[in-house]
Amino acid sequence: MGETKRYIRKRQSLMAMVGKIKLWPSRSGMLHGVKEIRQTGPWFEIEAHCGLVFKVRDSANSRAARWLRAKQYVAPCPKCRVPGWKLDKFGATVFSKRQGQVLTVNRPAEPL
Ligand SMILES: [Zn+2]
Repeated sequence: MGETKRYIRKRQSLMAMVGKIKLWPSRSGMLHGVKEIRQTGPWFEIEAHCGLVFKVRDSANSRAARWLRAKQYVAPCPKCRVPGWKLDKFGATVFSKRQGQVLTVNRPAEPL
């Protein structure tokens, strides 16, 4: 029985990837579960389930974007209690140059 691979296009916005995967690799190597993403101008605040908030700019080539694509982390955050299925799904995600979902950042609707 093979695991089902999920394909996501490689070169795209970090926030789109985080919005889809709902995981955040912190600088210390901890993989947090994403509870909410808020946008203020060019800044994004990523709130993890453990309560930590990360303030970042969107970029396809930042440290976090690279770590996400490489699936690089030391351990899942114990306080976030990232469920096993989510880690499995992340592990089965293939970041591909040629195929996969092109994601969009969820932005609040423009006022009419
Ligand atoms: Zn956490």
